[in-house]
Amino acid sequence: MDTNGTYRAADDRYAHAADLYNRCGKSGVLLPKVSLGFWHNFGGVDPYERSRAITHYAFDHGITHFDLANNYGPPYGSAEETMGRLMEQDFAPYRDELFISTKAGYDMWDGPYGNWGSRKYLMASLDQSLRRMRLEYVDLFYSHRFDPETPIEETLQALVDIVRQGKALYVGISNWPLEPLKQAAAYLRERDVPLLIYQGRLNMLHRQPIEEGILDFCKQENIGFIAYSPLAQGLLTDRYLDGIPADSRMAKDHFLHPWARTEKLLKYLHELQAQGQAHGRTIAQEALNWILEQGVTSVLVGASSVEQLSNNIATYLK
Ligand code: NDP
Repeated sequence: MDTNGTYRAADDRYAHAADLYNRCGKSGVLLPKVSLGFWHNFGGVDPYERSRAITHYAFDHGITHFDLANNYGPPYGSAEETMGRLMEQDFAPYRDELFISTKAGYDMWDGPYGNWGSRKYLMASLDQSLRRMRLEYVDLFYSHRFDPETPIEETLQALVDIVRQGKALYVGISNWPLEPLKQAAAYLRERDVPLLIYQGRLNMLHRQPIEEGILDFCKQENIGFIAYSPLAQGLLTDRYLDGIPADSRMAKDHFLHPWARTEKLLKYLHELQAQGQAHGRTIAQEALNWILEQGVTSVLVGASSVEQLSNNIATYLK
C-alpha cells in the first residue's frame, strides 16, 4: 500500500510460481496450492480493513484464487459485496490475474426459487453475484450441492448455458455424491464444457472424498479437486490446544461446536505437533501438507488474520 492508501501489488508476487501452482486436472488453468476462501471473515460483520489486508497478503504472495458463494457472510451476500468493494478499490487493475469463483445451491432468498438446483435459481443467483462483486464474469461457477428433486440435466444445462452466455469461464460442482458426479462429468464433456473442478470437504479428520472414491474419480477423469475446510475450521491448528479463545470460530459461530474439542482430538493434535516439530512445521502446515500429498489441486483455507494465512502458505514459499 502506498502513502495515499492505494494498493499496489507486490512486484515479486510470482517469485515462487515454480513451487506454488498446480495444474487443475488437464485444463489450461493453474491454481495455487493454497487458495483463499471467503466463507468466514469477509462478511458485513467483519472488519473490512482486516479482510482487505488478508486479500492483499494473499495476492502479494501469488494466491490468485479467491473462492466465494452467494450466501457467504453473514449476512448472506455480504462476502461478495466485500469482494466487490475490493475489486473497485484495489483489484480492478489485476482482474486478469485473479481466478474468482462463486456458487449457488444452498438457501439464499425466500420463496421457491432461492435454493437448490433449478435453472431459475442458478441463473438468477449468478446475476446477483456478479452485481455484488462488480464483475462482468466469474472465472468459475459451481453448483454448490446436488439437488435430488431437480432433473440433473436441468442443473447441468444451466451450467453449460452460463458458460455460453459468458457469465462464467468454467464450471464446477461441490458436495455432489459420486454417481451424480459421474453423470455430470459425462454430460458436460459431451457439451464441450468440461467439468473443471470438484470442491469437497477433505482434511485429516474427514476423509469422505477419499473413502467414497470421489478423489480417485477426479484423478482418473482429469478433473481438478479443491479441498475445503482443510484445517477442519481451525481444529487442525494450535488454536484450541489451550482452550477456546474468545475471538475464535468455536466461540463465535454455530458452525463449529465446543463439543468438537475432545480429549481424543487434543491427543491427536499433540501427536501432530510433535510430528510437525520434526519437520519444522506447525500443526496447520502438517494438516495442509497431508492433503496436498493426496494429490489434490489446491487446499482452500480460511484465515481470520494475515498471520494465519502467512503460516498456512509458508511451506510453499521456500
Ligand atoms: P479452514 O479449515 O482453513 O478453517 C479456517 C479457520 O481456521 C480460520 O478462520 C481460523 O479460525 C483457523 N485458522 C486458519 N489458519 C490458521 C492457523 N495457521 N493457525 C491457527 N488457526 C488457523 O477452512 P474454512 O472452514 O474456513 O473453509 C475454507 C473455505 O472453503 C471457505 O472460505 C469456503 O471458500 C470453502 N468452503 C466450501 C464449502 C462448500 O460447501 N463448498 C463449505 C465450507 C467451506 P478463527 O476464525 O477461529 O481464527
